[in-house]
Amino acid sequence: MLGRVSVLIPLALFTAYDYAIPEGLSLVPGDFVAVPLGRRTVMGVVWGAGDDSVPAEKLRAIEAQLEIPAMPEVSRRFIDWVANYCMAPIGSVLRMAMSVPDALEPEKPIKAWQIGNPDSGKMTAVRQRVLAALEDGPPLTSGDLARAASSSLGVVAEMARLGMLQAVALPARRPFGRPDAGREGPALSKAQQEAVDALRPLTPGVTLLNGVTGSGKTEVYFEAIAACLRAGRQALVLLPEIALSAQWLSRFEDRFGAAPAQWHSELTQVERRVTWRAVLDGEAKVVVGARSALFLPFADLGLIIVDEEHESAFKQEDGVIYQARDMAVVRGHLAKIPVVLASATPSLESTVNVEQGRYRFLELPDRHGDAELPTVTLIDLRRDKPERQQWLSPSLIRAVNETLADQGQAILFLNRRGYAPLTLCRDCGHRMQCPNCTTWLVEHRYSQRLQCHHCGYQIQMPKACPACQHEGTFAACGPGVERLAEEAATLFPNARRLILTSDTVGGPKKATELIRMVTEREVDLIIGTQIIAKGHHFPHLTLVGVVDADLGLSGGDLRAAERTYQLLHQVAGRAGRAERAGRVLVQTYDPARPVMQALKDHDQAAFLKIEEEDRRIAGMPPFGRLAALVVSGSNDGAVETQVRAMAAKAPRMEGVSVLGPAPAPLAMLRGRHRRRFLVKCRRDVAPQGFIRQWLRGLKWPGDLRLQIDIDPYSFL
Ligand code: ADP
Ligand code: ZN
Repeated sequence: MLGRVSVLIPLALFTAYDYAIPEGLSLVPGDFVAVPLGRRTVMGVVWGAGDDSVPAEKLRAIEAQLEIPAMPEVSRRFIDWVANYCMAPIGSVLRMAMSVPDALEPEKPIKAWQIGNPDSGKMTAVRQRVLAALEDGPPLTSGDLARAASSSLGVVAEMARLGMLQAVALPARRPFGRPDAGREGPALSKAQQEAVDALRPLTPGVTLLNGVTGSGKTEVYFEAIAACLRAGRQALVLLPEIALSAQWLSRFEDRFGAAPAQWHSELTQVERRVTWRAVLDGEAKVVVGARSALFLPFADLGLIIVDEEHESAFKQEDGVIYQARDMAVVRGHLAKIPVVLASATPSLESTVNVEQGRYRFLELPDRHGDAELPTVTLIDLRRDKPERQQWLSPSLIRAVNETLADQGQAILFLNRRGYAPLTLCRDCGHRMQCPNCTTWLVEHRYSQRLQCHHCGYQIQMPKACPACQHEGTFAACGPGVERLAEEAATLFPNARRLILTSDTVGGPKKATELIRMVTEREVDLIIGTQIIAKGHHFPHLTLVGVVDADLGLSGGDLRAAERTYQLLHQVAGRAGRAERAGRVLVQTYDPARPVMQALKDHDQAAFLKIEEEDRRIAGMPPFGRLAALVVSGSNDGAVETQVRAMAAKAPRMEGVSVLGPAPAPLAMLRGRHRRRFLVKCRRDVAPQGFIRQWLRGLKWPGDLRLQIDIDPYSFL
C-alpha cells in the first residue's frame, strides 16, 4: 500500500472517506476514481490527504482511476465553500457538480434511433408519437425517445425490431461550435462603449450593470464575453428561465457565429454528457444555463455573467438550498475573475453592495435608439370599479379597445394560473382544500381539474360538494388567467387572443412557436402570467394592462414590495420597445403605496431608498442576516415536541436572536407538518456557527427532518 487519500462521494454525506492507494496508482486531488462503498462500486473525487481516523488495516482500496481530466482545484474549493455556507452535506454539493454519471464512463459511440420504415408495423397512437418525436429533430437514444414521446422503452424496442426505427451510431463526442470573438459587433452608443471599456480588462471583482430593459446591456456583456474568448478562457452566462430564451440564443449566434453550449433541465441525457465533458475539457467556450450550470467543472472559467440578477428564480429551494447569484459571486472570487450582474431592476442586496463600495456600478441611462419608456398610469380600483365578478375596469377596457382599433397589440397581465384561486360551496360554505397542504385548490377549467400549486395534488372537479352533497353549488372566487381570458372573450370578441401561462406553453418548442406568433403579429391580445415578462422582445406591443398589481404584496414576505416592483416594471418594459410608444395601465386598490408611485414615475431609486430604510431599521437583510430552520414530520405532535426541545436548547449569543417556533405559513406541505424558526443575526455574525452549536447532539427520531435555509427567499 502506498498510503491513503480521502475520496468524496456524490451522496448525501458530510465528509470524504479515506481509501488506500493501490500499487501502481499515483493520484492527485481532483482525480476521478472508482471506489467500493458497501457492496457497490461508486465514482468519487480524490479530495485530500486523508487522516488517521480509520486504521490502515481497515481501509479499502481504490479500484481504479477514471481516464478523464481531474476536477480543477477551484471547483473543489467552491464545493467546500458552498457546503460550508449552505450547511449542506458536501457530498450533495459534489453531486450537483457530477450530475452526469455517464460522462465519467469511457467514451463509446452512442446508439440512437431515427425513423426507419414506418409501414413495417401496425400504426398506433403511441407509435405515431414516437415517430413524431423524431420527425424534425436529431436521432434520439431509447431513453430520450421514450421520454419525448411519453412512451415506454418497450415500445421503442418493439418498433426497432419491426424496422419502424433504424439504429444509428452517434459519435460520443461532437465538436462544439466555436464562438468567434473576432466578429464585429454593432456600433456601440457612448454609454455602451464606456461600460465595455470598463469591463474589457476583465479585472476581478463584481460589477452591477444597470439599465432599463432595452438599454443594450446584453450587447455590453457580449463584448465582455468576446474579450474573455480572446483571452482563451471560458465564459458562463446564468439566465433565470433558460427554457424560454430562444431569442437570446439566436442573438448570441448572430453575434458570435456559433451557438453557446446550453445547460438546463430540458437537455437530453446525451446532450448533458457531451456538454459536461466539453466543459471539463475546456472545449465548450461559452455556456449559457440555469443556476445549476454554476457547478459545472470548468477547465478555465474566466468570466461569469448573471443576467436578471434580481430574479428569485436563482434561489434553489430544495435539495441543496442556495442562491445562485450569490454563489456566482463566490465562484468568481475564488477564481479571481470578473462577475457581471445585469438587471433593469437590481436587487436591494446588490444596490447596497454598490453603495458600500463592494461592487462596481455601470449604468446605461437610455433605451437604445429612440425607443421611449412607456407611460405608466395607475387605475384606482376603488373609483374605477369593474363590474361584479369581472376584473377589468372601464378605463382599462377602453384602452384595450383603442389599442385594438389602432392595430396595436395589447397584453393583459395577471400573475395567477388557472381559473379561480378558491372554490367554495354556496350552500354550506365548504372550501375545497388540498389534503396535503395548507392551501386552497385552484380550479383549472380547461382541464376541468382542481389542482394544488404546491404539491401537485389534483382531482377531477367534483359534481357535488363533498361536505353537503348538494350539486351545482360551487362558486369560483377570484380571478386566474383562464377566467380573465373568458372575460376578454366577451369584451373583445373580434380580437385574436392568446393565453400564455406555463400550463399552455409546455416545452421550449411550443414556447418558441407562441412567442413567434406574438412577434409576427398573428395575435392582437395576449393574456398571460409572469411567463410573458421574461426577456422577450415584442415589437408590436403598445399596451400593457396589469390586472391586479396588489397580488404579490400580501403575506409576510420580506421582499414582496421589491419583487412586485421588479415584476411589474419588467412587464411594463414589454410595451413600446420598438418605434411605437407604449403605455401601461396598472390596476390597484392602493395607488398611494411607494411601490405603485415608483412604477408610475419610473423611479426605482426612490423606492429602493424607502425599502432600504425599512430594512435597516428592522435589521433585515442586507443589513442583518437570516436563516430559516424548518422542522417537519408526518406526526404533528412529534414535530411540536421536537421544536420545544430545540427552543429550550437554543444557545445565547451576542447579536443573534431566534424567532419562533411558529407554524410555517404553509403549516402542512406534502402531508408533512411544519414548524419554523428564524435565526436573525447582526451582519457581522454568521448564523452558521450559531446553528452548528445549536444542533450539536440533537436527535432526529422517526421521520423528523430539518431543512436549513441560509438567506431565505421563501417564507412559506
Ligand atoms: P437589454 O439587455 O438592456 O434589455 P439589449 O441589449 O437587449 O438591451 O438591447 C435592446 C435592443 O437594442 C436589442 O434589440 C438590441 O439588438 C438593440 N441594440 C442594443 N445595442 C445596440 C447597438 N449598439 N447597435 C444596434 N442595436 C443595438
Ligand atoms: Zn398540496
